Amino acid sequence: MDIDLLINELQRNRIKTTLLENKEQLLDFLRETIPPNSIVGVGDSVTLEETEVYDFLRSSSYVFLDKYDKNLTKEEKRNIYLKNFDADFFISSVNAISMDGRLFNMDGNGSRVAPIIYGPKKVLLIAGTNKIVADEKAAISRIRNIAAPLDNIRLSKKNPCVKTGKCIDCKSKTKICNYLSVIQGQFDNERIELILLNGKYGY
Ligand code: SF4
Repeated sequence: MDIDLLINELQRNRIKTTLLENKEQLLDFLRETIPPNSIVGVGDSVTLEETEVYDFLRSSSYVFLDKYDKNLTKEEKRNIYLKNFDADFFISSVNAISMDGRLFNMDGNGSRVAPIIYGPKKVLLIAGTNKIVADEKAAISRIRNIAAPLDNIRLSKKNPCVKTGKCIDCKSKTKICNYLSVIQGQFDNERIELILLNGKYGY
């Protein structure tokens, strides 16, 4: 895997990319990049859990739109999703990165992919190098046969892939694969920034 080639392709698609070596570098990067008192929203991400980004946001001086607060009512959670659109920063991950410099995400209710595409002033997408694949076909396969089945298990869903371990393209009402987004460019080449973390994070 040629990371320099990938970063070049991402930059040709106007997606700023920063390569970091580990979790400590990531947290330093976030500390330097996000000014105090910024409003920060997040998308659901095992990568952000593993790298302790959520804990970092909770313990800093940010206005963290914490969708994981257990006391939230359904209506309050919806309000957080709506506030994400007006946040200073939105932090999330991606399901796959293709070598031609495109970012792939599958979403259940759209609350993650929608603010990535429009709204927050700055979007930081944090992903391990394990998410890199050859092309679009491999990206979709990665989503259907690795990321989505594991996410179904994490979310205690009863969709067919929990048993089969791979996608059968179900039509279940509870399926989490409803909105596929492909980012292949942007007007402002610094709005969405990919933070590539060397190593395996999330799935
Ligand atoms: S479409 Fe259905 S079977 Fe396929 S990964 Fe999504 S939830 Fe699982």
